[in-house]
Amino acid sequence: MTPLTSLSREQLRDFFISTGEKPFRADQVLRWVYKKGVFDFQSMTDLSVELRIRLSETLSILELEPIQKVKASDSTKFLFKTCDGHVIETVLIKERDHLTLCVSTQIGCAVGCRFCATALDGLIRNLTAGEIIQQYLIAQGEAGERIRNVVFMGMGEPLANYDNVRKAVEIMVSPWGLDLSRRRVTVSTSGLIAPLRKMARDPLLRDINLAVSINSPFEEERSELMPLLKRGSLKELMKILKSFPLRPYRKITLEYVLISGINDSLSHAIALAKLLKGFEKRFKVNLIPYNPDPNLPFERPSLERIMVFQSQLWKRGISTFVRFSKGQETFGACGQLRAKRYVLKSQAV
Ligand code: SAH
Ligand code: SF4
Repeated sequence: MTPLTSLSREQLRDFFISTGEKPFRADQVLRWVYKKGVFDFQSMTDLSVELRIRLSETLSILELEPIQKVKASDSTKFLFKTCDGHVIETVLIKERDHLTLCVSTQIGCAVGCRFCATALDGLIRNLTAGEIIQQYLIAQGEAGERIRNVVFMGMGEPLANYDNVRKAVEIMVSPWGLDLSRRRVTVSTSGLIAPLRKMARDPLLRDINLAVSINSPFEEERSELMPLLKRGSLKELMKILKSFPLRPYRKITLEYVLISGINDSLSHAIALAKLLKGFEKRFKVNLIPYNPDPNLPFERPSLERIMVFQSQLWKRGISTFVRFSKGQETFGACGQLRAKRYVLKSQAV
């Protein structure tokens, strides 16, 4: 069955035309799904009973099955089972005055960052646009208030799944879809060069927020920490980011996971500032204190060391913030998600 949540308005209108229906039926169905949160064709009362039956035989709406919900004080983690039996994770984060949803884009990840739990099992497969959108729809149904912010910072590398991520973003920001503001959708990437170039030319994707995981200002060390990235890619990356088309007042976020004894020294901070010299206003840096994982040999630096690192950047004119992952006491939070260990459990259910 075709998942409706993988289709753009255009594609859904074509679908209705090809089945001998009027294209405006697409708008009726989209309204039920994205505006009213109705995921069952039988409840779409402005469609004929016969059409409702036909639709439920050819289109699916929700394929993801919620299997667990873990609540922490500031966030909720959802585990979803896909049709082929994998488990993905989505985190709903309660900020001071709004909700942010952290969605996954792949099952596993091929970039292989040494410090990241998602990398431990390699890449299993890409998620479809529908599976990305369904994470939002189900979390929204549970949230009780509208989720206005989405970050693509869950499992996987969004730009390695370009077409599906692009489609999901189109559904998120379109008035007929989730109708989110482009300023409130953020794609986080490890910095894949070719898709970043494509993104810079893409009128849809270059208009949302861009976050790039830097993690080290040193070419060699960075490609050791993030193995899929080739030597020379940091230089190339900085060149692209310095000329990336930005809307007025927008900045590119650089994410930097601070790992004790690895990338948290004074010389790292100074080298990072040097990398941005002359472009200080174009970037802001988010320092993410490392979230330890029992399967990985890394530790979080002391608060004092984190503050010293931050002050070095401020001193050099770079807006720098420390961002603790939410929900970390209860579960590995956004950016520290791992599916495989749950697959066995969920199959046993
Ligand atoms: N693949 C994309 C998006 C998912 S990872 C990327 O790498 O940007 C989202 C963020 O979580 C990245 O900045 C990553 O460096 C960070 N991250 C991964 N593991 C982490 C951990 N154990 N503690 C803190 N941050 C982590
Ligand atoms: Fe993939 Fe991002 Fe984890 Fe690196 S940090 S392995 S790119 S999910």
